[in-house]
Amino acid sequence: MRRKIVAGNWKMHGNLADNEALLSALLAGAGDVKAEMAVCVPFPYLASVSAKLSGGGIAWGAQNMSQHGKGAFTGEVSAAMLNDFGCKYVIVGHSERRALYGESDEVVADKFLAAQAAGLVPILCVGESLEERETGVTEQVVGRQLDAVIAKAGVASLANCVVAYEPVWAIGTGKTATPAQAQAVHAFIRGKLRALDPVVADGLVIQYGGSVKAANAAELFAQPDIDGGLIGGASLQADEFLAICRAA
Ligand code: PEP
Repeated sequence: MRRKIVAGNWKMHGNLADNEALLSALLAGAGDVKAEMAVCVPFPYLASVSAKLSGGGIAWGAQNMSQHGKGAFTGEVSAAMLNDFGCKYVIVGHSERRALYGESDEVVADKFLAAQAAGLVPILCVGESLEERETGVTEQVVGRQLDAVIAKAGVASLANCVVAYEPVWAIGTGKTATPAQAQAVHAFIRGKLRALDPVVADGLVIQYGGSVKAANAAELFAQPDIDGGLIGGASLQADEFLAICRAA
């Protein structure tokens, strides 16, 4: 059976004092959570977050990284630097990175490869815009995003990653995909991969992300191909995030 993983994406939120309080509450409440828990935090907080969470049963990671190993890339952060702070996960290809920072499928695939080469587990985000859903090309878009990674890294590389299906129209909007809508795309992803490598397909953790909250998490996570969630806004509130983790 696949494990369930619930990861928080703090985005550009937090400060030292608020992070300390949030993580204290998560550590205190994590005892009865069966799913794996993780938080993906802004770069400047990796040191304090790693110090706080070490040995505590909650993993941590970053929200982005450079596809390059090192060099003249002002403002960028490499996979090796994330390793220095004990990161397990790194989100690659979040729709905000794709839309606001022009990250192409190709760049996302390079980041995926660089993350794995450094021993990090990439959380690869895929998902369609509202327009793409309405014009009926959701599967083409998600398929193309996956194919870019498979072309560069090979299907076997998906044995060591998490895929997060995040419909762009559901992120931060309060509009969650219905469990049936989400399940349909998750099943498409798994089916596509099953044709290439059934073992990888059956073992792949596919998270759902997009306005998940305590009130809708259980129904989403009950779908056969939904293996947890990538949680934005609701991961900033300890009670809400813990309730989502318990639902997994
Ligand atoms: C996200 O940023 O990955 C996300 C899913 O955000 P939210 O839960 O706020 O929709």
